[in-house]
Amino acid sequence: MNTNFPNLLKPLDLGFTTLKNRALMGSMHTNLEETKDWNRVAEFYATRARGEVALMVTGGIAPNVEGGVFPGAAGLFDANDVANHKIVTDRVHGSDGKIAMQILHAGRYAYGPNCVAPSPVKSPISPFAPAELDAAGIEKQIDDIVTTACRARDAGYDGVEIMGSEGYFLNQFLVRHTNKRTDQWGGSYENRMRLPIEIVARIREAVGRDFILIFRLSMIDLIPNGSTHDEVVMLAKEVERVGATIINTGIGWHEARIPTIATSVPRAAFAWVTKKMMGKVSIPIITSNRINSPAVAEEVLEAGCADMVSMARPFLADPNFIKKAISGNEKKIAPCIACNQACLDHTFSGKISSCLVNPKACFETELVDTKALNKKSVAVVGAGPAGMSAAVEAAERGHQVTLFEAAQEIGGQFNLAKQVPGKEEFHETIRYYRAMMTKHQVTMRLGEKVDAQALADAGFDHVVVATGISPRAPDIPGIDHEKVVGYIDAIRGNKPIGQKVAVIGAGGIGFDVTELITHQGKSSALDIELFAQEWGVDFDNHPRGGVTGVEPVVIKSDREVWLMQRKDTPVGRGLGKTTGWTKRILLSRRGVNMVNAVEYVRIDDLGLHVLIGGQPKTFEVDTVIICAGQVPERGLYDDLMTKGVSADLIGGAFEAVELDAKTAINQATHLAAAV
Ligand code: FAD
Ligand code: NAP
Ligand code: SF4
Repeated sequence: MNTNFPNLLKPLDLGFTTLKNRALMGSMHTNLEETKDWNRVAEFYATRARGEVALMVTGGIAPNVEGGVFPGAAGLFDANDVANHKIVTDRVHGSDGKIAMQILHAGRYAYGPNCVAPSPVKSPISPFAPAELDAAGIEKQIDDIVTTACRARDAGYDGVEIMGSEGYFLNQFLVRHTNKRTDQWGGSYENRMRLPIEIVARIREAVGRDFILIFRLSMIDLIPNGSTHDEVVMLAKEVERVGATIINTGIGWHEARIPTIATSVPRAAFAWVTKKMMGKVSIPIITSNRINSPAVAEEVLEAGCADMVSMARPFLADPNFIKKAISGNEKKIAPCIACNQACLDHTFSGKISSCLVNPKACFETELVDTKALNKKSVAVVGAGPAGMSAAVEAAERGHQVTLFEAAQEIGGQFNLAKQVPGKEEFHETIRYYRAMMTKHQVTMRLGEKVDAQALADAGFDHVVVATGISPRAPDIPGIDHEKVVGYIDAIRGNKPIGQKVAVIGAGGIGFDVTELITHQGKSSALDIELFAQEWGVDFDNHPRGGVTGVEPVVIKSDREVWLMQRKDTPVGRGLGKTTGWTKRILLSRRGVNMVNAVEYVRIDDLGLHVLIGGQPKTFEVDTVIICAGQVPERGLYDDLMTKGVSADLIGGAFEAVELDAKTAINQATHLAAAV
């Protein structure tokens, strides 16, 4: 047993059952249940059970049709559903795991015309106004939730988690902003908290004592006029009194305009909110959000912030997270970089979730780990995300891999990304791949820009070309003017950047470069206090919702920046679904001018000349930074083809349009799995 993590790896005795360590896999809606491929769902959870996580919570399961997050959301409605869920629980128990089912009633967040809520107050993130429930309607919701808990028990679950946070149905009863009722379910706080208490009490009565009942409680709402800390404590005490086994932390309503899990949120930023609850109840408390390594988890537990930690996305990135922590292999844990690109962005687009660094997540039955039958010598050229993952996957399968990289370090463009404030986690991805290459004995040839002749002479059995991209030089008169700087030079600081700057191209890189050149001082992703100030959160005093009356502190930039694109859509619309808004808000607050529908005319001593709506305009800037996308770097591949050396092409070298690390790693992993 690894002695570095005594608190994380310590069992937790719940009286009627014992959890083998202090790690909970938090609930994630992966859209897997909706596939109705129960073997696939079972394999997803069983893989994580084999990885030694103590307890898992499923994605939210609807108690009835009106409470489903969207029409067709998975529910536990009848005996057939119970039998299907039993496939999952049996597989998990067969893998020595424990699993609880989350019951999620979305209330006014249900994305459909039949949604119901305490009061007919439409949410800002849904087009549907909810119907106000009458007394009988409320009784029906309670009954349906209790019935679902009983069915979960019948299906073999070890417990249920009642979703009482994130602004869902139960949470909507708690605050006046969404609960305008004047009957016994509204008005005073005692009345507003009646629903969650009633639900916990009746579930406990129905399922008996030996069934885990987790209540997910919104510890800080992050919306104006949310709950106070005293109200949160009052609810926790009541929930304990009526029979909860564990209290789990929820942070922020979905409509909150404060990031809670993005990569720009400091690690364990909200553990201190949970800590304030410690000692106020006697049942175990779980903390959550941006805990992504055993070391961070250990630190949080050691500091007395909670009895247990919940991590969700880290178990997508690496199902063997805890197993590796136990065996002293924590450096080989694939780290979740909190990008949301393959998980939440997929979930909210109706796609199956997966993981940028682990494309096998949720595809366990399709991308199966296998050893190679014929061991080959494989050359991989380029150590960006595509090359690194191809090299590791091929080596893991038993091939003898040589990785050539022209630069002195592995990482490719991630070495640029990691320099952007708020993207410090990208260091971790590179560190992980380095550790895996050492483990699987990949021969690294750094500082070696290999050519086709050398590869042909070496006689590799298989060549993989992952040479990445070249920045696109747009066809604008004056593109060679001395004011013009490419994004690589801008990020590396190779060329001076003036006080007035035009950024051409407002994709992911345009936003990142603008962040970098307008950022002053320390990165708030590394400092919880700074993060709280930047987003207007008061952790210490916890006014209503943690934010009421608190203004964000904006550190304006000395630079005047225009971030522009040709499209007439709002600038930044193409950024990540669940993270793009944070970038847009921050840069707008900082005073960055976002300009769309631009036609570039020329660059000269005066600056950048454009047409906007057919009208000429000149931006008198000192520097024009080009972030206008990329083209594939295929020189080596073409040379290999000329020489008749067969090779596979992956990543940016294959296709640069809309290429990101998620696509690059996915393609590389599939290729290496087939070599
Ligand atoms: P690259 O990363 O470009 O790697 C190619 C490598 O090949 C390079 O290291 C190069 O030196 C090497 N090479 C080329 N020719 C040779 C040769 N002949 N011999 C040896 N070596 C050679 N993507 C995301 O998904 N999420 C993000 O948040 C994100 N942020 C980004 C932020 C910035 C600032 C930048 C610049 C990019 C970002 N990206 C992001 C994009 C992502 O980094 C790329 O999509 C990804 O790196 C492409 O991977 P790749 O392996 O195909 O190519
Ligand atoms: P991108 O997202 O495709 O953006 C390119 C930008 O350049 C667009 O704004 C485009 O807008 C503009 N453009 C394209 N051709 C042009 C031309 N000929 N002249 C002038 N402008 C032109 O690409 P990127 O920003 O280079 O990013 C590369 C990849 O990395 C993307 O897949 C991106 O998703 C990924 N990435 C992701 C993140 C993240 O945080 N998730 C961060 C950085 C990068 P118009 O055509 O409207 O002008
Ligand atoms: Fe984490 Fe990104 Fe993977 Fe989601 S896609 S689990 S945020 S690394």
